[in-house]
Amino acid sequence: MCFRKVQCTRYACGHDTPNAESLVDCRSTRCRYSKEHPVGCKTCSTSCKQWLRPAQTVVSFLSPLNCIHCRR
Ligand SMILES: [Zn+2]
Ligand SMILES: [Zn+2]
Ligand SMILES: [Zn+2]
Repeated sequence: MCFRKVQCTRYACGHDTPNAESLVDCRSTRCRYSKEHPVGCKTCSTSCKQWLRPAQTVVSFLSPLNCIHCRR
């Protein structure tokens, strides 16, 4: 199953702020969100996965500062 990958910045205060999002393709022909999935799939609702996995958060940048909520 495909899922969304959310890249975020982690601040010194411990809070994360998302800054980019991408869809990771599972490359399965049995997943309706995959690019490998056939267009016009007839039996889609019974044969294929109809949902995405929960989003996965990855910390792509570490900031030495506090986030905007804690910055004062
Ligand atoms: Zn998928
Ligand atoms: Zn399908
Ligand atoms: Zn904060």
